Amino acid sequence: MADSRSDDDAGRPRVLVVGGGFAGFYALKRLERKLPADTAELMLVSATDYLLYTPLLPEVAAGTLDPRDIAVPLRQALRRTHTVLGHVTAIDLNRRTATVLQPGPDHYHGTSNDGVETEPTIVNWDRLVLTPGSVSRQFEIPGVAEHAHGFKTLTEAIYLRDHVLEQLDVADSCPNTPAGDAERQRRLTVVAVGAGYTGTEFVAQMQRWVKTVAGRWDRTGPKDVLWVLVDVAEAVLPEFGPRLGRSAMTLLRKRGVDVRLGVTITSADETAVTLTNGDVIPTGTVVWGAGVAASPLIATLGLPLSRGRLVVDPELRVSGTENVWSAGDAAAVPDLTKPEMPPAAGSEAAAAIASTGHPLCPPTAQHAQRQGKVLARNVAASLGVGNSRAYRHRDLGLVADLGGYAAVAKPLGVPLTGLLAKAVTRAYHLQALTGVPNRIRVAVAWALGYALPAQAVQLSAIPRADALMTRAQATDIYPDPPLELSRPGSPPAL
Ligand SMILES: Cc1cc2nc3c(=O)[nH]c(=O)nc-3n(C[C@H](O)[C@H](O)[C@H](O)COP(=O)(O)OP(=O)(O)OC[C@H]3O[C@@H](n4cnc5c(N)ncnc54)[C@H](O)[C@@H]3O)c2cc1C
Repeated sequence: MADSRSDDDAGRPRVLVVGGGFAGFYALKRLERKLPADTAELMLVSATDYLLYTPLLPEVAAGTLDPRDIAVPLRQALRRTHTVLGHVTAIDLNRRTATVLQPGPDHYHGTSNDGVETEPTIVNWDRLVLTPGSVSRQFEIPGVAEHAHGFKTLTEAIYLRDHVLEQLDVADSCPNTPAGDAERQRRLTVVAVGAGYTGTEFVAQMQRWVKTVAGRWDRTGPKDVLWVLVDVAEAVLPEFGPRLGRSAMTLLRKRGVDVRLGVTITSADETAVTLTNGDVIPTGTVVWGAGVAASPLIATLGLPLSRGRLVVDPELRVSGTENVWSAGDAAAVPDLTKPEMPPAAGSEAAAAIASTGHPLCPPTAQHAQRQGKVLARNVAASLGVGNSRAYRHRDLGLVADLGGYAAVAKPLGVPLTGLLAKAVTRAYHLQALTGVPNRIRVAVAWALGYALPAQAVQLSAIPRADALMTRAQATDIYPDPPLELSRPGSPPAL
């Protein structure tokens, strides 16, 4: 199906934004403010009709927050933008078109309500903004795609909450026999891979919540659920530095979490994971938080990549293109606040350096949001409004909520733990979360969380197949990248 513009749109150049996450959303917000209505038509193709505030995703899994509390409605927040729900699966840089696959009931897998094959739409653009973010980095470990669950989308967070509760139910009804006991322990073991903020916050917050509710089952007590956190690195929360990382690890171990560092998994199947040291851990739940890789769309473009991310100049213009910009987790944005690195020897090391020789900005919401705003300014400049400028942002620090009254935070480099860190963490999220309605919902939920008993009900709304990474993150809908892009030494990872 070809895209036809309405009369109203005729003559106005179209700015097409791919992905309404932190970078895309803030780019559009700024463009709506900056560009007079007759200067350009703004169009967003987004896989979801909300901006997901991912830093609070662990609180959805742990039930402190309702999923909608952290979903900022795009159509309400972007009033001048034409929002289309779907995935861009291909871009033609010469013809200036994008192929858009819109969801049917079989999701993105090609059939519509009445079972008819859905046809992609071709959308024209004059300025293109590529902000499709990232997906879970899976490596090629046998069984991970089939048996592990990522933790990047609301679908995955909601599913994991229900799934863990279901394991408690199944465990409770296992027979009182040696085989039944073994199955019971397997069901009550959760393994999270990756001790960065995704895996660590997930384990810390879920452990606190399950400990509070587990006593409601007849045969299960708070201490019966075993949490295992595995990482190939020798540290928990390495982003926070050794002191806060150690503090987080001590807290987790005190709570009974089995933290295993210097190992990762070599395979996963329906009943267990096997570690690189040969240990086999029987489990019914594997959560995958081992880093992220740029959206598979990026590798299909045939453009220069650095560690799998699109190479952009300091003004966020995509190298080798005209009128195309990129930002966020999908882009290799040079961090101009860090000194240039000496020319790298190996191809792996060279890939870590951005277009300018500076290191890459880390893949965080903090950067993506600010890059989005600078990108908007530069797109506007290309349309004759204002001047462009380079992206430069000094990190404000990081926060990680560890459940209960615990957190670690490093605002402007100052290490904090305990109650003070918790207060800073919650204050940070409240100001960073987009939109007053969402802030109010979250603040009220937090207040109620201290006053009311923790909730533990299963909605079982999401089938297991839809919560696997391929489906939940729609990684299988893109054409294969050109062969020369899959050469060794250029890993598609951040
Ligand atoms: C659990 C978790 C906790 C985190 N905590 C923090 C934190 O505390 N602080 C912090 O700074 N960062 C945090 N991050 C990282 C942060 O979420 C990312 O860096 C940030 O979301 C990147 O923004 P983005 O705009 O590049 O991508 P996203 O915000 O992921 O947005 C990309 C959007 O594009 C959509 N999309 C993807 N492909 C297509 C396509 N082909 N067509 C159309 N739409 C598409 C996606 O569905 C998504 O809506 C966390 C991430 C996770 C998963």
